[in-house]
Amino acid sequence: MTRTREECAALDATDPLAGFRAEFSLPEGIVYLDGNSLGALPVRTPGRVREVVEAEWGRDLIRSWNDAGWFELPHTLGGRIGPLVGAAPGQVVVCDTTSVNLFKVLAAALRLRPGRRTVLAEQTAFPTDLYIAEGVTGLLEGTRSVLLPTIADLDRLLDDDVAAVVLSHVDYRTGELLDMDGITDRVQRAGALMIWDVCHSVGALPIELDACGVDFAVGCTYKYLNGGPGSPAFLYVAERHQAAAAQPLSGWFGHARPFAFEPGYEPLTGIGKFLTSSPSMLGQAALGASLDVWEKADLRAVRAKSLALTDLFIELVEPRGLEVATPLDADRRGSQVALRHPDGYPVVQALIERGVIGDFRAPDLMRFGFTPLYVGYQDVWDAANHLAEVLESGEWRAERFNRRGAVT
Ligand SMILES: *Cc1c(COP(=O)(O)O)cnc(C)c1O
Repeated sequence: MTRTREECAALDATDPLAGFRAEFSLPEGIVYLDGNSLGALPVRTPGRVREVVEAEWGRDLIRSWNDAGWFELPHTLGGRIGPLVGAAPGQVVVCDTTSVNLFKVLAAALRLRPGRRTVLAEQTAFPTDLYIAEGVTGLLEGTRSVLLPTIADLDRLLDDDVAAVVLSHVDYRTGELLDMDGITDRVQRAGALMIWDVCHSVGALPIELDACGVDFAVGCTYKYLNGGPGSPAFLYVAERHQAAAAQPLSGWFGHARPFAFEPGYEPLTGIGKFLTSSPSMLGQAALGASLDVWEKADLRAVRAKSLALTDLFIELVEPRGLEVATPLDADRRGSQVALRHPDGYPVVQALIERGVIGDFRAPDLMRFGFTPLYVGYQDVWDAANHLAEVLESGEWRAERFNRRGAVT
């Protein structure tokens, strides 16, 4: 028996995270299931950005680099992301984008393993990670990137030529969650360094980078963390590597004395050596506002509700004969549910017209992200009900649902 809408309303009434919904400004009548791609707008963000623009920039001008904490902000925000990823202070900075940060940490990892030439990554990874691995190995002579057909091939390919392994903690398409602790251990026993991409797990579940002994990690802040479109990413470098690690984008913000304007590069000690350029202050300010919300959230409660929401959605859609591409085992699931349908693209477009916003990933996956801070149980019920109606009525066959935009 699947649950009724009334039963879902009862779950919302006792939900310990229900109060967080008021922290977000979501349009009336929208069920937003794409917070795994672009998180919703926190109510406090526009005011904070306006303050930075009008007061810190407009009124205080260049003095704000010192007086408003702009110069330190990549470290300050990194320190605030630390608890979300299980990192003790001094190991996370906020800067650049995930792709750029992966370039920096992957190059650093290869330099820490001279004599080893291979980077392993998963064939099904978010492609930018693979493109960056190609870019880095293309620059470092003799190195190469090798793709794992599936994660089950890891041990077979993990030989003594592997310098680094790059994996996504949660798969962007299927939502599969990998065992960070066990895999990190296997990789390190083989003498390689472990780099995790946590784009789809940060803010969705507790992450324990320190406890798992991870070497490097990268992640973005515009998905579950709600930092805003194109908000700056972060990177983590375990303290034990910071002295020896060197990264190739040796810009002035990573210099030991940026305002001495010396002609030669001398990196900061510590995580700061992974900075490159002037931080984008408006993006950093928006992220700061969204982290105010995260500081009040208990990640264990977030994880518990995330699993309850995804369980509920699976329970409601499975009887409709839809193939669930996401692991049914909760221990192996992130915070999204992907359903296979050969006409997934127009079906998602028809749902969007009904106010249920999910997305589509080629070739046949309809993706629905469940963000526990602003999605409730009745939302899940309504989304599943709309999906059933769209499929039963065949309304998705209409011509207008088959035109594709640049972004799917
Ligand atoms: C979203 C995402 C990215 C984004 O990369 P950017 O360089 O920030 O655009 C990278 N990797 C994964 C796994 C992602 O999900």
